[in-house]
Amino acid sequence: MLKIGLTGGIGAGKTTVAKIFETLGILVYYADQEAKRLMETNAELIKTIKNQFGESTYADGKLNRKKLADIVFTDKEKLSLLNSLVHPFTIQDGLRWMSEQTGSYAIKEAALIFESSSSHEFDFIIGVSAPAALRFARTIERDQETSAHVTERMDNQMDETIKMNLCDAVIINDEEQLLIPQVIALHEKLLKMSVEGSTHG
Ligand code: ATP
Repeated sequence: MLKIGLTGGIGAGKTTVAKIFETLGILVYYADQEAKRLMETNAELIKTIKNQFGESTYADGKLNRKKLADIVFTDKEKLSLLNSLVHPFTIQDGLRWMSEQTGSYAIKEAALIFESSSSHEFDFIIGVSAPAALRFARTIERDQETSAHVTERMDNQMDETIKMNLCDAVIINDEEQLLIPQVIALHEKLLKMSVEGSTHG
């Protein structure tokens, strides 16, 4: 089974693209969603976050997301510290999930594949690319956030062109080129690759 990474900048449309793959019967691991679950359920991770960011980041056993976001989004170093604490858990959990899959290929959707040095986990990495102005507008609309906050989040990410150049294939989500045909073409390519891989051992 092929292990596929799906990545891109904030608001590029990773989740949108992943949902199209799901309609084709492909299973997807959503790293962001799973990281949130692990931050609520993994005792070791909870303890580490409390140690680094204070007991008040959890109240009644539940993560106080607003509190944590307020701490990390105004401080680059704290954001990278949080990422560095959560990543090993998400990476381990994603590897476990991948090893349990049995189809032709399975996808892990994650914003930080290259940044977390986990690109070696994958046989093939798909990038989702969209112009910065569109990513900015989509994120403001979806998250109901201020433009300063979204600019900050975008500035904290790896340069889009560099990231896309590292990918094996790029899906353009600029609202001009149709998404579904691009996903189907990649799906066919990946099915073919998976058959060839299993034939050649
Ligand atoms: P993040 O990294 O911030 O989670 P993402 O890359 O997963 O973002 P999505 O959540 O898929 O991006 O898309 C961001 C927003 O833009 C969503 O509200 C989504 O519905 C919208 N969107 C994405 N692609 C398109 C498109 N082609 N046409 C219209 N809206 C779109």
